[in-house]
Amino acid sequence: MESGSISGCLNHYFENSEQLDTKLWLATNQLTVGGLLIQRIPEEGGQSLQGYSNWETLSTLANTITDHELASDAGPLLIYKLFHELDPRGFDPWTVEFGCSCSRERAARALRALGETELKQLFIEQPSLTLDCHFCGQVYQYDQADLEWLLSDQPPRSDTLQ
Ligand SMILES: [Zn+2]
Repeated sequence: MESGSISGCLNHYFENSEQLDTKLWLATNQLTVGGLLIQRIPEEGGQSLQGYSNWETLSTLANTITDHELASDAGPLLIYKLFHELDPRGFDPWTVEFGCSCSRERAARALRALGETELKQLFIEQPSLTLDCHFCGQVYQYDQADLEWLLSDQPPRSDTLQ
């Protein structure tokens, strides 16, 4: 944690890990959370992308947003108010849904990466192995009967519960 706020931590992450110019603002009121994220898209073929060529102007305009506006008015109208001189264009909104790409097979790959010797040793020490997806909470359990396919590149047994 490099900051005392979620937006500060995410800004630090973008600055150090993504290495893309990114700025994030978050604000809340009692009912909603609003956010604004701007990111400088890498240039294609050395040519500046139209509308993103003036990062400083975009940042300065975005910095004029107030927490009240962000928490209560976030949306296309606010984008227009902030950036109308840059001629912003909007995309159709889509519904945000929670999803996770984990699977029994992907979790098994993590076990396979341990190597045959260590995997066999783990099954000697305990009757089953459990892997928890820390993103979605799905639990994958493997028992002795799974060892053969864990050591092969075969798909999982179809009768195995997930
Ligand atoms: Zn998951």
